[in-house]
This record gives sequence, C-alpha cells and structure tokens, in this order.
Amino acid sequence: MLKKLIPLALSVTLGVSSVTVSYAFADIRDEIKGKRKEQQNLLIDIAEKEGIAKDQLQKKEEFDSKIKEIERQREPAEEKYMTEKAKSDRAKEKLGKRLKSMYLNRSNNYTMQLLSSESFSDFIQRFQYIRMITKSDYQLVREYMETTKRAEEQKQVYDDLITEQDKLAKQAQEEYKKAVAEINKNREESEKIDQFFEEHADEIIKINLKDWSSGNLTFTYPGGKMKNPTRTKVRSSYGMRLHPIYRSYKMHTGVDMVGGYGTPIYAPQAGIVVSSQSAGGYGWLVTIYHGNIGNKKVFTRYAHSYPGQVQVRVGQQVKQGDLISRVGAYGQVTGAHLHFEVRVGEGDNPPYVNPAQYVDF
Ligand SMILES: [Zn+2]
Repeated sequence: MLKKLIPLALSVTLGVSSVTVSYAFADIRDEIKGKRKEQQNLLIDIAEKEGIAKDQLQKKEEFDSKIKEIERQREPAEEKYMTEKAKSDRAKEKLGKRLKSMYLNRSNNYTMQLLSSESFSDFIQRFQYIRMITKSDYQLVREYMETTKRAEEQKQVYDDLITEQDKLAKQAQEEYKKAVAEINKNREESEKIDQFFEEHADEIIKINLKDWSSGNLTFTYPGGKMKNPTRTKVRSSYGMRLHPIYRSYKMHTGVDMVGGYGTPIYAPQAGIVVSSQSAGGYGWLVTIYHGNIGNKKVFTRYAHSYPGQVQVRVGQQVKQGDLISRVGAYGQVTGAHLHFEVRVGEGDNPPYVNPAQYVDF
C-alpha cells in the first residue's frame, strides 16, 4: 500500500502525474497478475482435490456395498451355525441324561465335568475317565461338535471380511474428509483474492482490455470440468443435425440448453469476458476466456441473449457461478434458448469443440 501511495503523493507535488500514474498502474498490474496466478493455482488444486474426493467417496460406497453383500452371505452361515449349535446342545443334554442314569449311584461330578467341555478334544480328555459310554453316543457328540465348530469358523470368516471392508471404507471416508477440508481451505483463500479483485474491478477491466488487445492476457486454465452454465439439461447436442430453420443437415457448433426466457446463465468456470457484441445469427454473443491448456486458449460463448440481459462487461473478470446473462431469443432462433459453445485454440474464431469434453452437463 505504501509503495502505491508514495508515487501518487510525488505526482501531486511534482505535477508529472502521467509518469507516476503509469508507475502505479504497473504496480497494480503486477499485483493483479500475482493474485491471479495465486488464485489459478488454488483453483487447479481444488479441481485436483475434487477428483480425489470423488474417487474416495466412490471407494467408500464400493466398500459399503461389499459389506452388505458379505452380510447377506453371512446370514445363512449364521443360521447354519445356530441350527448346529442347537443340535449339539440337544445331543449334549441327551448324553447328559444318559450318563446321569449310568452313574446315578456314583458321584455326579464326572458327568458335570464332561458336560462342561469347551471343545471336542477337551471332551475326549475328560472322557478318558469314563470309558463305559457306547461308540454311537461318542460319535454323535463328536459330529455335532465338529459341525458347530465349522459353522462358527465360517461365521468368523465373514466377520473378518466385514471388519476388513469396514476398515477400508473408513479409510476412504477419512481421505474424502481430508480432501474436502483442503478444498474448503483453498476456497476461503480464493474468496479472499476475489475480494481483492472486486476492490480493484475498474482497474482490472482497464488492464485486461489493454492486455487482451496486445495479446498479453494469458493464464493457465484452472483444470477440471466446467460447471453447467444453466444447471439444466441439454436440449440439442453438438454435431450434425437437421437445422430447425434451414431444414437441412448442418453442423451444430455448440449445445442448446433447456430453459425458457430469463433463465440465468452462470459462468461455468473462472475467466475474463473478452467480447460481448451483436453477431449475426447468434444475436448477441458473449465470449469468456478461461485460460490456456498448453498453448491453446479455452473460451466459452453464449448466444441469443438480448443486450439488456447481459450482466458483464468486456474486460471483466468473472468467477465460477457469477451471473453473466439470461436466456433470450435474439438472433436466428425458433424460440428462447441458450446456444452454448466451447472453443479451443487461437485467433478471432478459434475452432469449436464438443462442449461435453469440457463441461459437466
Ligand atoms: Zn444451438
């Protein structure tokens, strides 16, 4: 701030305002350039983090649905376990009664010990003391104990799988939260820079116009896909089509968006308005420059608004979501609609491309 005030103060005393003002102008130009670069980096980072967040959310959903699938498979295993367990309990009880009657005159202790066996091997060990049991009884208990054990193991396998999937889902959730927190932090930083831009809006317009006409206005495309400018569906897509007025097959150089007269049109990505003018069949045409991908400039164009509907000026810097215009019916149209184009390249009339490659419709 001090840097800017000193030359201005000098200009008053020395009366050479033209020189000092251009100094101040260069000063703010550098600051704007710096802020723009800073903001572009933030936006690039946001786009990258949005990709990460989306991936992690998708991963979490995949793990969650795997958990549901495993739980579905676990249910019958659990049922099987319960059935086997019940059978085993009944067999134990039956055997207990048998042993009780066999050893009725002796101490009841043996029976109790045998019946409190935790496993088959335990049972066998305790069984060493009681040899008078029949082979079929022995076989019966062994079978039920073994099947119960197998069912229990199977249930454990599913439980382990669920635990593992749950761990992965939680990890994905954490990564998602981390990315979102970073996105929010970057957004806050970016908003601070927006505030700076708003404060210097008039100077920025002048600088942008000068830089644009001299070919010096370039910056990096923020990255990621652009947002849908009308938040509505595509009515007529890009490519060869039967022209609604000429009734012949012609190239449709953009997309027509659903939305009647007055539907708001928002900036799909941050950029600078480089043209807003009457343009033949387009009616009125607004063009926004969004930065370079490699050495190619990326533009979006908006046709058929009435001049009075346009909310932006040439040279104006816009951020994603700013209202730029509204849907009109100016030019060669059969009804009100937005004809929206994406152009990538150089010169006054850069080549049109399929907007779906750049925009998340
Ligand atoms: Zn169209």
